[in-house]
Amino acid sequence: MGLKKCPIIRTPNYRELYLRTPMMMHSLDLNGRIIAVSDFWLETLGYLTEEVLGHKLTDFFTEESRQLAEKTVLPKFFEVGSVRDVPYQMVKKDGSLIDVLISACSECDEQGGIICSLAGVVDVTELKKAEAEAMRLAHYDTLTGQPNRFLLQDRLGHALEHAHREGETVGVLFIDLDHFKWVNDTLGHAFGDQLLKMVAGRLQNCARKGDTVARLGGDEFVVVLCDSNSQEDPSHFAKRFLDALAQPIHLEGKEIHNSGSIGIAIYPMDGRDVDTLLRNADIAMYAAKESGRNNYQFYSSEMNALSIDKMNMESNLRRALKNEEFFLEFQPQLDLSGAGIVGFEALIRWQDPVAGRIMPKDFIPLAEESGLICQIGEWVLRTACRQAQDWRKSGQPPVRIAVNVSGKQFRQHDFMDMLEEVLNDTGFNASDLEIELTESVVMDNIEGSVGTLTDLKMRDIHLAIDDFGTGHSSLTYLKHFPFDRLKIAQEFVRDIPDDPEDMAIVQAIVAMAKSLKLGVIAEGVENKAQLDFLRSRRCNEMQGFYFSPPLPADILAERFEDGWLQRRLCPFSGWRRGPDAVAVSN
Ligand code: C2E
Ligand code: MG
Ligand code: MG
Repeated sequence: MGLKKCPIIRTPNYRELYLRTPMMMHSLDLNGRIIAVSDFWLETLGYLTEEVLGHKLTDFFTEESRQLAEKTVLPKFFEVGSVRDVPYQMVKKDGSLIDVLISACSECDEQGGIICSLAGVVDVTELKKAEAEAMRLAHYDTLTGQPNRFLLQDRLGHALEHAHREGETVGVLFIDLDHFKWVNDTLGHAFGDQLLKMVAGRLQNCARKGDTVARLGGDEFVVVLCDSNSQEDPSHFAKRFLDALAQPIHLEGKEIHNSGSIGIAIYPMDGRDVDTLLRNADIAMYAAKESGRNNYQFYSSEMNALSIDKMNMESNLRRALKNEEFFLEFQPQLDLSGAGIVGFEALIRWQDPVAGRIMPKDFIPLAEESGLICQIGEWVLRTACRQAQDWRKSGQPPVRIAVNVSGKQFRQHDFMDMLEEVLNDTGFNASDLEIELTESVVMDNIEGSVGTLTDLKMRDIHLAIDDFGTGHSSLTYLKHFPFDRLKIAQEFVRDIPDDPEDMAIVQAIVAMAKSLKLGVIAEGVENKAQLDFLRSRRCNEMQGFYFSPPLPADILAERFEDGWLQRRLCPFSGWRRGPDAVAVSN
C-alpha cells in the first residue's frame, strides 16, 4: 500500500459520473462516516440513501472486517495517499455477505489538507467462490471429496512440524483395498466408484477430528494420525479401519465383501519427512499384501532392504534384456495315445553373470510389476518361433510350440500387431503356435479379452488355459471362448495317487473338457502312478519330469537325432541312462 498524492475531484460532471456509473463508490468524512455513495453501491447492498448517509462505513462490514479495518487500514485512508484492493466482507441489507476489494484515496483542499476519502468498491464474491472451487478441485479428490495427494503432503508436512516442536509422533497409514481391480473389471467402473465413495466414508468415520483421510488415487488411501503417542496407537486404528472395511457393502442389490491391507510408518522412527514416511508406509503395505492381505504391518528397515533388492533386480532385468542373458528351455508335451511328442512348452531362464541361473518364479512377477514383461514376452515369443522354425528347416516334422503370455502383455493394445510381426519375421506357422494364458488373465477382464482371443483364433493360433483349476473360471465363458486346451494345474497332479480329492478334481476337469470338446493336458507328471491314473481317466496329453525336464535347444538337437520327433518316440525319465525313448502305443 504505497502512499502518494492523489488528484482532487470537484467538477459537477464528476459528481454525475460518481452517482450514475455502474460502480460501487463511497466517500467518507474524517470520522469514517459515509457522506456520499453511488447508486450502484446502494443497489448492490440493498439500502436506501438515508439508511447509509451519516453511518460509519464499518457498520456495513462483518465484525471481522470491521476490526481489521479499524486497526490497520482505515487510518491510512486519511493519510495523504491511497490504498489498493483491500479485501473486506460487507453485509447486505438482507443479511447476506459479499466479498469486496476496496481501493481508496484521500481528497484534499487547496492547502493540501485532507477533507475526505473517496473509494471504489469491487464486488468479488463470484470470483472468490470460483477461487474456492479451484482450491477445492486442486486439493480434494473429486470422487470422494477427501483431501488429495497435494493436500495430504501439505497437511502431513504441518503435522510433522508440529510433532517436531512438541516432541510427538505422527502415524502414517497407507491403505490399499484388496481385489478392487476385480470389482472394477467385473462389476464396472461406475460400481467401483460407488464402492470407493463408501470406503472413503467408512475410513473418515473411523478417524478422529483432526486426522486426515486422503485418497491418493485408485484404491489407495492414506490416513495421517496426529499425536499418536505410542506404537500401539496406530495399530489400534489400523484394526478399526480393517474392521470397517470388512463390513459387507450393499450396492445396487449386490453384497460385496471387501478387505484392505495397511502399512504403517511412524514419525520420527520410520522417516522424518513427508516423502520418506509415505514411501515406507507404502512398502509396509506391500508387506501386508504379501502376508495374505486383510492385515496391517509396521514398517521395518528390512522391508526397505527388500525393496532396494527389487529396484536392483529391475535394473538387472533391463540389463539382462540388453545383454541377452535370457534363454529358453523347451519341455516336451506328449500324446500317449500314440502321437508321441506333439509339442513343446517354451520356458524362460535367466543366466545372471553373478547370481547364476534364475528361474521364472523369481523374476517374472517383478517383470510384470515393472512392465518389462512386455519386452521380455516379445523376446520369448520371437526366440521360440525362430527356434521351432529352425527345427523345421532342419527336416523335423512340425510340432506345436506353447508360449506363456502374461496378463500385462496380453492386454497391450498392440499385442496382435507384435504377434503378426514375429510370425512374419520368423516364418513360423501360426497354426503351430499355442498361447498359454492363466484363468485370471482372461476372467479378470472378460470384455477386454474377447477381442484379442477372437483375433488369435482367426489367425488359427491355439489357445490354452494354463494352471487350470487354480483360479476362478466361469463355465459359461469357457463354453463361448475359443479355447483349444485346458492345462490341469500341477498342484492337482502332484498328490496323485494319495489325495482322493485331487483325483476327483482331475477327473472332473477331464470330463468337463471332453464335454466342452476341449483338449486337456496334465502338467507336472512325475511318476508312473500319475500317468496310469491320468490315462485311466482318458487324459492322454501330459507334460512333466517323468517324460523330460525342460531342455535347452542344443540338448534337444541331440534328442532329435535320436528320433524323438521323427519316430514318434515317447521319452521317459530314464532317458539319460538306458535307451532314450520308448515307443508308446495304445
Ligand atoms: P507353467 O507355465 O505352468 O510352466 C510349468 C512349470 O512347471 C515350469 O516351471 C516347468 O519347469 C515346471 N514343471 C514341468 N514339469 C514338472 C514336473 O514334473 N514337476 C514339477 N514340480 N514341475 C514341473 P518353470 O520353468 O520354473 O516356470 C514356472 C512358471 O513361470 C511357468 O509356469 C509360467 O507361469 C512362468 N513362465 C515361464 N516362462 C515364462 C515366459 O516365457 N513368460 C511368462 N509370462 N511366464 C513364464
Ligand atoms: Mg505354462
Ligand atoms: Mg502351468
